[in-house]
Amino acid sequence: MSSITKSVETLLKKYKVTHPPVRVEDIAEGENVDVVFVAFEGGASDRIHGFYDHDEKKIYVNAADSAEEKQYTIAHELGHHVLHAEYAASEGYVPRLKHEVDTVQEREADDFATRLLVPSSFAPMYADLFSDREMQEMFLVTSDMLKVAKKTF
Ligand SMILES: [Zn+2]
Repeated sequence: MSSITKSVETLLKKYKVTHPPVRVEDIAEGENVDVVFVAFEGGASDRIHGFYDHDEKKIYVNAADSAEEKQYTIAHELGHHVLHAEYAASEGYVPRLKHEVDTVQEREADDFATRLLVPSSFAPMYADLFSDREMQEMFLVTSDMLKVAKKTF
């Protein structure tokens, strides 16, 4: 089992997550990471989904984003908190941008987010019973996020 899968399963167990939607905001707060929703100024709102302030232990989420994107941003940045303390504190750290940033850390945080939002411990059961559209609503994910998640089952 990869360390990402292990980290996610530890959190899901700790917070007794057994059904959708996964309350990532509560999980973050439980891990002493504050989640704040902000109106980014000017063009920033068009470019940034959110970011993690490692020193303040705070995840900033673009308040103008959809519920699905907000949920994903929290899960993704929580991934950096859990997996990448050193990276998150470094100057190389990048916010969750609206264009893809293809680095090891960003891919890992995306993998963490996918596995946390659509847990392979119970999501496959839902996939047997419900349509993709219904799954998206229940798990609060976009169709693209669900597609990626289904590959982890
Ligand atoms: Zn990131």
